[in-house]
Amino acid sequence: MFAASAPGTKTVKTNKDRCKLCGRDFASAEELSTHNRLEHSANAYSPAGVA
Ligand SMILES: [Zn+2]
Repeated sequence: MFAASAPGTKTVKTNKDRCKLCGRDFASAEELSTHNRLEHSANAYSPAGVA
């Protein structure tokens, strides 16, 4: 039998606002967004387009 994967079994506070690039956890999605812009700005804009 397959394990019953109940989505609401444990109310564990999952860190959904985690940076997948460096693995840091953030209290809110806004902080994560800001972090991505500051720390991983190269991910948004191509560094090859430096004028
Ligand atoms: Zn990061």
